Amino acid sequence: MASVELQNIDKTYGSFEAIGNLNLSVDDGSFTVFVGPSGCGKSTLLRMIAGLEKITAGDLKIDGRRMNEADPIERGVAMVFQNYALYPHMTVEQNIGFSLRMAGLGKAEIQRSVAVAAATLQIEPLMKRKPAQLSGGQRQRVAIGRAIVRNPAVFLFDEPLSNLDAELRVSMRVEIAKLHRRIGATMIYVTHDQTEAMTLADKIVVMRAGKIEQTGTPDTLYADPDNLFVAGFIGSPRMNFLDGTLDPNGVVRLDCGAVFKTGLLQGEGDIPIKAGIRPEHFTGRDDAGGAIDLKVDVVENLGGTRFIYGTLSSGQAVIIEDRSETIRRPGEIVTAGFPARRALLFGGDGERIRGTRPANTL
Ligand code: ATP
Repeated sequence: MASVELQNIDKTYGSFEAIGNLNLSVDDGSFTVFVGPSGCGKSTLLRMIAGLEKITAGDLKIDGRRMNEADPIERGVAMVFQNYALYPHMTVEQNIGFSLRMAGLGKAEIQRSVAVAAATLQIEPLMKRKPAQLSGGQRQRVAIGRAIVRNPAVFLFDEPLSNLDAELRVSMRVEIAKLHRRIGATMIYVTHDQTEAMTLADKIVVMRAGKIEQTGTPDTLYADPDNLFVAGFIGSPRMNFLDGTLDPNGVVRLDCGAVFKTGLLQGEGDIPIKAGIRPEHFTGRDDAGGAIDLKVDVVENLGGTRFIYGTLSSGQAVIIEDRSETIRRPGEIVTAGFPARRALLFGGDGERIRGTRPANTL
């Protein structure tokens, strides 16, 4: 096992800055997920840790040792790729044992390690097959097996599930979480799927345009995002953002008519804000709560719960979760209340307004 430190890391491709002065500590034995929109630099960062991409400036330390120039084997890392990267002419057994043969290990030792990896991943019956004779999920298990036999201190996963269908993704996600619990190695995982990030991570690193927007546990990022970007990226369906103003006494007036009191005192006069309210937080008002009226456009019935996709009179789209008995019909007007403490406020710069709201109301 090993910790990974990224200190003042830059990566440029010609004049394009893919990563800018990035700092991050990945704890020994943790499961850290890099998440962010396409092109934000997740893979670049992972590939620099793997030794597949040169670091332009800054220091990469693995278990305290500077590793910028070390080759991948010396770093003690193993990477699992989105496209599996298996050798098509080799059997599963040969694919899994390949790196050990290259390292010059004896036949018996290789066989033992391959058998342990195959048992861990429950792919023993497949050992004599070639990759073309496997399903996508089986191929991904073999790819993970290739990483396991190397007994790396750090596993690096680059969107390993994105070529699998929805059902298989969920079951492989659970498999990877179990693998982490069982072997306890440090794992760093890249995805653009926030559900994958929320369910797998001890710590999520939200990236945008080569920078870290926020780092925290899934619960922290969900309940206490630092800015509009993180608030909008984490959570599904997405958080609603409603325009309005905040006055010096902490009263919020939304353009759609809702008025509610917060503990956020600020002395600047009325300032423009966005109130962020998650669909699942329209659960009725408390004493200081607000309410919005929306016209129902579509009801998404998921069995246990329903989401109403609707519009405010201003034309703005909103999504609310509806747990009431009655199923709403398109065209109906619904009044949806929310507790004031569930409205997160963001200023004109997109940063969260925290002010003097008591911590226990978050
Ligand atoms: P995705 O989710 O789409 O895989 P990502 O967050 O992993 O995206 P990266 O692949 O790390 O993004 O790319 C980050 C940025 O660096 C992108 O703008 C990309 O176009 C650019 N980039 C990546 N590799 C190169 C390269 N070899 N030469 C030039 N630009 C590159």
